Amino acid sequence: MTADLDQAVRAAHERYARTHPRSARAQQRALAVLPGGNTRSVLHFEPFPFRAERAEGAELVDIDGHRYVDFCGNYSAGLLGHEPEAVRAALRAALDDGMAIGATREQEIDLAERICRRFPGIDQVRFTNSGTEANLMAVGLALHHTGRRTVGVFDHGYHGGLLAFGELDAPESHPLNVPHPFRLAPFDDVSGLDELFAEPDLACVLVEMVQGSGGCRPASPVFLAELRRRCTEHGALLIVDEVMTSRLSPGGAQELLGVVGDLTTLGKYLGGGLSFGAFGGRRDIMAAFDPAAGGRLTQAGTFNNNAMTMAAALAVMDAELTDARLSDVNERGDRLRVELNDRFGAAGIPLWVTGLGSMLAFHSADDRILELFFHDALEHGLYFARRGFMALSMEITDAHTAALVDFASDWCSSQTGSARS
Ligand code: PLP
Repeated sequence: MTADLDQAVRAAHERYARTHPRSARAQQRALAVLPGGNTRSVLHFEPFPFRAERAEGAELVDIDGHRYVDFCGNYSAGLLGHEPEAVRAALRAALDDGMAIGATREQEIDLAERICRRFPGIDQVRFTNSGTEANLMAVGLALHHTGRRTVGVFDHGYHGGLLAFGELDAPESHPLNVPHPFRLAPFDDVSGLDELFAEPDLACVLVEMVQGSGGCRPASPVFLAELRRRCTEHGALLIVDEVMTSRLSPGGAQELLGVVGDLTTLGKYLGGGLSFGAFGGRRDIMAAFDPAAGGRLTQAGTFNNNAMTMAAALAVMDAELTDARLSDVNERGDRLRVELNDRFGAAGIPLWVTGLGSMLAFHSADDRILELFFHDALEHGLYFARRGFMALSMEITDAHTAALVDFASDWCSSQTGSARS
């Protein structure tokens, strides 16, 4: 079986290389000037990634002329699909008013009002240029507020390239992390909280209620409620990273799961496709940025109130993000997860899907099986992230999800006998 799988993966790579000659040449050019051939490491896959030429609705078209249904959804930033009309109209209008202005404007008040109304626990908010930056700011703010140094995080938590965590026994595996003293605890494990909260210097705990990059692993409500209780008891701030999960309900994962943090971070799709991040929370904590309230912190990013980003985010909040559309996309994701697992289970193939709502991830006990499934899906015009991640966009229809389920069914039939473990 091992030899069969190795051979099948090799053959899939060869077929892919044959059918993507322009992408192959682009990869050679890229390798000369971009280390690894890209400027976003997560986009790489073997033997080389296709280069997208354009995106339309729910689809991507590559420079070799192949079309793919886009289940990756720009790693959850693409919730609105590729052609959100209200955002495009807002951007065209913003172009005429001045793209980048070094002055305060009413737009950022409008956006802050909508965010504070929408998300529980956000009394006040500030904007950044990415989810990474939002998390860095929130953690720094928590250290400042508590006067402590230690930051609690969970295994496989991903909060940006400078706040990335892997296995419990390999805490040093991300050399680019900011040099805070981190304390790594097991995700979704109530018993692991004892050790975390034994640390008197614990300033905050940073958690994603459904770990997105970490494999679409939802935490149990019991775990989250206990984490909340312990943070309050200990005087540590609970920072909820909703950069991805805020799509799970109108008030984000916190509203859905009934646990509210002291600080919340946002990003991704809320910027309508532009670079965006935000951190906000309790008024007494955010007061650190208010000189009139005695606050001593400043946060002065040049692009924090960028006119284009503010306009796009306002269009997202006012026109695109209706409760009905949000519940549609999340219900569609729940149905897709169940149907895929049914197919894999019935065929006895060691592949399965985890997640919640529109955030889903394929997993396999043997990564070669996922590699093969990924390439065969690509060959059938279905694209998700190589590591298995999917984030449905609002342009994905039942016909698209049915195509994926049918493909998975056929794939299972074709593999039975060779990929069974
Ligand atoms: N937090 C979470 C949960 C994320 O998934 C990501 C990105 O994938 C980030 C933070 C970082 O956001 P950005 O890529 O905008 O810096």
